[in-house]
Amino acid sequence: MKFSSYNQVVVNIVKLKGNYEILHEKVESGVFVLAMVKGDGYGHGMIEVSHALQELGCLHFGVAEIQEGVLLRQAGIKGTIYVMIGCDSSHAQHYFEHDLTPVVFSDESVEVISRAALGAKKKIAVHLKIDSGMNRLGCMPKDAGALMRKIEDDPLLNLVGVMSHFPSSDNLASNKTLENHHLFQTASKQAGFQFTGVSHIANSGGLLNFPETHGNMVRPGIALYGYYPDGPAGRGREKAKQLMPVMTFTTQVLQVKDVPEGTGISYGHTYVTSRATTLAVLPVGYEDGYPRCLSNCGEVLIQGCRAPILGRVCMNLCMVDITEIDGVKAGDEVVLLGVQKNEEITADDLADWSGTISYEILCMIGNNNQRSYI
Ligand SMILES: *Cc1c(COP(=O)(O)O)cnc(C)c1O
Repeated sequence: MKFSSYNQVVVNIVKLKGNYEILHEKVESGVFVLAMVKGDGYGHGMIEVSHALQELGCLHFGVAEIQEGVLLRQAGIKGTIYVMIGCDSSHAQHYFEHDLTPVVFSDESVEVISRAALGAKKKIAVHLKIDSGMNRLGCMPKDAGALMRKIEDDPLLNLVGVMSHFPSSDNLASNKTLENHHLFQTASKQAGFQFTGVSHIANSGGLLNFPETHGNMVRPGIALYGYYPDGPAGRGREKAKQLMPVMTFTTQVLQVKDVPEGTGISYGHTYVTSRATTLAVLPVGYEDGYPRCLSNCGEVLIQGCRAPILGRVCMNLCMVDITEIDGVKAGDEVVLLGVQKNEEITADDLADWSGTISYEILCMIGNNNQRSYI
């Protein structure tokens, strides 16, 4: 038997597709869009998102680990699937069994894929990741030429792409992004190695803010899901069609109660009422990906009005102040993320209140609740 939760995430596939089209229009023709669907599609459902984008002609999908790639293949995703993190000998055979594309980043990772290719008696296309300043995964720029030759000298490996990743492309004012891009380009041309494959570095920030970095493929993640990497500032700068948030999160009022002035609310009584107060008890908490740090600072929408959270957010419950909102009753819809009448709460708002970024909010909410698709 399948029970339905009070808490529902709705993913709007029409808006997702609209965002893809907007991003596709921002790159020159011939530039591929690699859709980043890691983190279960940033909480939106990797398989559903990939199918929707595949319908629009998207041919490139990016995941973090290999099992995500296997799931995408098993779900019928046909394009190239890039596994950004993982060249472990214990799972490398899956690259061949499921036609996945590894991203190599070191001598060892090249050797792991090479040995697996020998075992599988198959050739494989690989992309090389160069660290141009993120100081995360990737080979150092000075080692890129030697690694590219090592890959090309291996009869079973085919170097089809070089890539890197921007640390601060969300910041339009920083000149780091163009420096990273320059370092990446220099590294991929170094040591006389003639690389003619795909070159890609631009995440959503690069795609939206630095057109000169598009290369022949861009890798948007957050923008597909309707958010700008620098939040409301990016949305404000958008002159043309704005990206549309894809996810909404709703719950309903479980109980309404009146308490007098001086009443402590929730664990620790961190909020004490300063007037006679009407509370709505909501069946949502941090177990549902609704951050505990929204305690005493978040807001929800009821009847199109903002209702502030009072006291601590619990594991499965929290309380909001509805003193100013007339006629609220159990069962009324509560919007935690999304639009209600003329008001909206975005993942940027939730992130701002809880000291994080929209990315984390979307992953936490999307991946901890029942999702439905429209
Ligand atoms: C997550 C990720 C992206 C997408 O980043 P956004 O800021 O969400 O656009 C691109 N490339 C790599 C390697 C990533 O890990």
